Amino acid sequence: MTKEIKDLGWNFDNSYSRLPKSFFSSVNPTAVSSPKLIIFNHPLAASLGLNEEALQCDDGAAVFAGNRIPEGASPLAQAYAGHQFGHFTMLGDGRAILLGEQITPKGNRVDIQLKGPGRTPYSRGGDGRAALGPMLREYIISEAMHALGIPTTRGLAVVTTGESVIRETELPGAILTRVAASHLRVATFQYVAKWGTVEELRVLADYTLKRHFPDLEANESRYLSLLQEVIKRQAMLIAKWQLVGFIHGVMNTDNMAISGETIDYGPCAFMDEYDPETVFSSIDRHGRYAYGNQPYIGGWNLARFAESLLPLLHEDQEQAVKLAQDAISDYMVQYKSNWLSGMRAKLGIFNEEAADEALFENLLTMMQKYHADYTNTFRALTFEKYEDMALFRTPEFAQWNEQWQARKERQEESKASSNQLMQNSNPAVIPRNHRVEEALEAAVQHGDYSLMEKLLEVLSSPFAHTSEQAAYSTLPAPSTQPYRTFCGT
Ligand code: AMP
Ligand code: MG
Repeated sequence: MTKEIKDLGWNFDNSYSRLPKSFFSSVNPTAVSSPKLIIFNHPLAASLGLNEEALQCDDGAAVFAGNRIPEGASPLAQAYAGHQFGHFTMLGDGRAILLGEQITPKGNRVDIQLKGPGRTPYSRGGDGRAALGPMLREYIISEAMHALGIPTTRGLAVVTTGESVIRETELPGAILTRVAASHLRVATFQYVAKWGTVEELRVLADYTLKRHFPDLEANESRYLSLLQEVIKRQAMLIAKWQLVGFIHGVMNTDNMAISGETIDYGPCAFMDEYDPETVFSSIDRHGRYAYGNQPYIGGWNLARFAESLLPLLHEDQEQAVKLAQDAISDYMVQYKSNWLSGMRAKLGIFNEEAADEALFENLLTMMQKYHADYTNTFRALTFEKYEDMALFRTPEFAQWNEQWQARKERQEESKASSNQLMQNSNPAVIPRNHRVEEALEAAVQHGDYSLMEKLLEVLSSPFAHTSEQAAYSTLPAPSTQPYRTFCGT
């Protein structure tokens, strides 16, 4: 592996590599035969202070493939252990390597991680590699989430490796470079709580406070504040998911970031028809991670986080449990309040009334009964275009609509500002599954990236409500097979 010569704009500091040795394993990516840069996120690169011109050529391909270690990087795989579908297991970065932490021109610290760069000590039976389709999928969906204003990790680049990966069939291999506020997970804390010392747990918690919550560092009960702040961010994040119909698909504790960003896009997808039981993941047979369960699973995962922190919360463990329980019970209250605020905005409502929740629930009940598309229902309400959905022809809707109109009349704000609020809160487009699949097929099977580029462009301004976006809101043709997604691919 060669060191680079040109200044590519890397400005690494590697604070994670200075943590106790048991928290990670130093490991280099395994070089690939013929790396080719196929996606490079220019605006993101610019915000990171990277040399866009140099990186979009061979230098970028070499770095993002793991063939060349950038100056100042200190590659490592992180250790973590968490609950997968409720079962506790040792995990760790089995197919991801952290190059280092880039300090951006604005002074922010972000992780630069390669996903699919070869085996690590945590790979178990896996090959440490990733296939092109799923890496492009993560790129598309995380960019869409970012544009929707939902905290998320982002894709900086995708390279093809020139090598195949063997899954059910032979697939083209690829590596995604992911940018994250950090890769600290609930599962990182679970790992240290289970196998580390209390001193190591304190080191991890102090590190997390310093990195993500510096304002809380001086608090006397800073570990309780840490718990409360993580709860607050998840209550916010999961409410945002629910409000756009996003289904993460695999909310294991290793896939819940302490930073409050959406992380690990595997079998995720957006719901079409409103149905709380919607599940896309092929392995989620019991619907543990169904749309309607996400808020509760968020609480379950946070309870695992709270358990990990118990030794730090109070010397007296009974007191510690009490503090943890109080914090956890507040999660649902906060989630609910965020969801209600979001629904108010989606329906053009500025102030609060006690009966709002019933108004929203009644709408959702009707949507489910009449198989209404989640995104398109709110778009139709925004523009009062009621012609093409069965829901809007029912007497129930007419009655609900009267109540909704009366509700809006009772606020001071004008109809125009209420409409504007709705336009800003209800996306014109989401990454519809059939559109994503169509773009991926063209890219992976035929090397044609034009559909994907167009899709990314349309998804980049979801609240613009342009005529071009209307074409992207059409539903897939009815199919006998439910849409299925896969993880670990
Ligand atoms: P994920 O579904 O991406 O959250 O992955 C769950 C766990 O499986 C993580 O510890 C991954 O590092 C590991 N893993 C997934 N795919 C592979 C692979 N191809 N090789 C090695 N480890 C993998
Ligand atoms: Mg994971």
